Amino acid sequence: MDKVIDTFAGRLLERGIPLSPRQLEQFQRYYELLVDWNERMNLTGITERGAVFEKHFYDSVTLAFYADLSSADNLADIGSGAGFPSLPLKICFPQLHVTIVDSLAKRITFLQHVCEDLGLEGVQCVHGRAEDIGRRPEHRDRYGIVTARAVARLAGLSELCLPFARKGGLFAAMKGADPQEELEEAKHAIRELRGRIDRVETLRLPEEQSERAIILIRKTDATPKAYPRKAGVPLKQPLL
Ligand code: SAM
Repeated sequence: MDKVIDTFAGRLLERGIPLSPRQLEQFQRYYELLVDWNERMNLTGITERGAVFEKHFYDSVTLAFYADLSSADNLADIGSGAGFPSLPLKICFPQLHVTIVDSLAKRITFLQHVCEDLGLEGVQCVHGRAEDIGRRPEHRDRYGIVTARAVARLAGLSELCLPFARKGGLFAAMKGADPQEELEEAKHAIRELRGRIDRVETLRLPEEQSERAIILIRKTDATPKAYPRKAGVPLKQPLL
């Protein structure tokens, strides 16, 4: 093992997430594919190896510090981009059935390739807008955990994500520092979409020390049929 992998594995072990040599190899291979494909398409601005392991891989896995992913059956990742946070979580928790939704076809092609190359089974990569996919019966009110990292402000994001969560399930919005203003702004939207703010967890990335917040929202009932509204509307005219 080298220092980057060693540090990454040690930090997750401290949080009760042990990784096997095969899982660590999968992270290393994911890194190689990310930087390779990044030369041909825009996937990430972060390419230095230690930074990718901390700001993408470790940051993604922090969700598992606050939500029980070892007993979760399925997870939907809305606006996953280059696979964050769902693919690092899938590598750590192989039993999870993962659904990825992204509106950019090229990114879906990349994600399918990563899953094939790493031998990740039970990952469905869906190309489309969350507003449309969230209306399909096979995805609506179905997921124990729905997550999104760095996609949109919470009010609009809730309309993209909450329709996927089943009653009693969790929507976990992964945010940067101090989401208080966004939370205030999103209160009405969350209620209207049948969510209830459960709690907000805050942390710092271990090396870089930048702040993160994970907003945990519990789904209280099925989302009313009126939502999500037509593609584009939730982010342009959030329910305020
Ligand atoms: N979650 C990743 C991360 O943390 O690195 C990617 C964040 S990137 C800034 C936002 C992603 O959301 C893009 O890949 C974009 O294509 C996708 N996206 C934006 N609006 C969307 C929508 N309405 N439905 C599905 N995907 C969407």
